[in-house]
Amino acid sequence: MSAFDCVIVGGGIVGAALADALSAGGLSVALVEARSIGTGTTACGMGHLVAMDDNAAELALTSWSVSLWRELRDGLPRTVEYDACGTLWLAADDEEMAAVHTKVANYRAAGIRAEVLDSAALYEAEPSLAPGLVGALRVPDDAVLYPPVAARTFALRAEARGARLMTGCPVRELRPGGVVLANGDVLAARHVVLAAGVASPALCPELPISPRKGHLLITGRGAPVVHHQLVELGYLKSAHGTEGASVAFNAQPRVTGQLLLGSSRQPGEGSREVDAAILERMLKRAAVFLPGLDGLQALRVWTGLRPASPDGLPLLGPHPEKPWLWLACGHEGLGITTATGSARLVADQMLGRVSAIDPSPYSPSRFLAATSRGVAHA
Ligand SMILES: Cc1cc2nc3c(=O)[nH]c(=O)nc-3n(C[C@H](O)[C@H](O)[C@H](O)COP(=O)(O)OP(=O)(O)OC[C@H]3O[C@@H](n4cnc5c(N)ncnc54)[C@H](O)[C@@H]3O)c2cc1C
Repeated sequence: MSAFDCVIVGGGIVGAALADALSAGGLSVALVEARSIGTGTTACGMGHLVAMDDNAAELALTSWSVSLWRELRDGLPRTVEYDACGTLWLAADDEEMAAVHTKVANYRAAGIRAEVLDSAALYEAEPSLAPGLVGALRVPDDAVLYPPVAARTFALRAEARGARLMTGCPVRELRPGGVVLANGDVLAARHVVLAAGVASPALCPELPISPRKGHLLITGRGAPVVHHQLVELGYLKSAHGTEGASVAFNAQPRVTGQLLLGSSRQPGEGSREVDAAILERMLKRAAVFLPGLDGLQALRVWTGLRPASPDGLPLLGPHPEKPWLWLACGHEGLGITTATGSARLVADQMLGRVSAIDPSPYSPSRFLAATSRGVAHA
């Protein structure tokens, strides 16, 4: 039986970032992954590092996380493809332009650089866009990267500090004092962290995490040239919807001259099959904004399951009824962005450090305390 200060279950970007943060904090760590590092939802994500201002807690975690990524960027290998392209939130009409002005105020109040582009400035920045848009919000410090390689980079940094990476090792059971692997071996540890993404409830059934399926498509080379991650402001309506499928235009420039196109949301959908009808809606939406896509080849289409919590915020911190168990799951559509901040928040709590942001909005007790009183999850 091996003994560690901490066993992390799940080697997605969240678990890998945690292994990095906890090993940097001086703990002996094992990162246990059923398959290989970064091959779960992390491999399906778009890799947009984006400050989002739907509510104060989301803005605090995303903006801090984006700034932590920026601090890391010079030390990241080129294969992570970190590109400081910024985000353009596109306004299709005056109502959306009014939202741009609200958002710019929110961002600036949080210390995030943001600027309003009128229509002329927008088309100067992105000449490939279809005519008729009224303006945009530009957030220059947002970025994009290639998520599975970012996850592997975190895991290798942890390994270089002595952490043990165990891949091809499904965990069968979590219990006080450690975990039991599928082959019956026991890994002993003072702390266990559950970071198994959408599979987390399989090991801790009281967790209110459900799949929210998304489709992405990558084009061949020769796509319309775009310089920023482009997102329609209508994306926010799609991201918040809790019922029914929705699509919204979201396009990411790749260094290869390809475009990564998203995105769709299907709450509660756990199958990974490509849905032709959803894909068609997504592509039609993309063509509204980028007419140059017509006739371009799609190289690959895939889906992924976002691990969604009822309030859209991750669960970060100790399980209220199982003090040995820590949770780092439920990141929905922002887990690539918030992996850095999430890892720091959990590591700070475990190591008794004060965090740069208030950890309480992400506390698992907001759901699990209610469960123990017999209140149903949302
Ligand atoms: C289409 C799409 C687009 C997205 N775009 C973005 C984006 O642009 N920006 C952004 O910030 N986020 C984005 N996301 C969300 C992001 O991908 C997720 O929030 C993030 O990847 C979750 O990471 P994770 O480490 O929690 O989960 P995962 O990456 O799923 O990792 C969990 C790991 O746990 C392992 N595991 C499961 N069960 C066990 C077990 N019993 N034993 C051992 N290991 C186990 C799995 O194999 C897996 O590797 C997107 C998601 C999708 C689907």
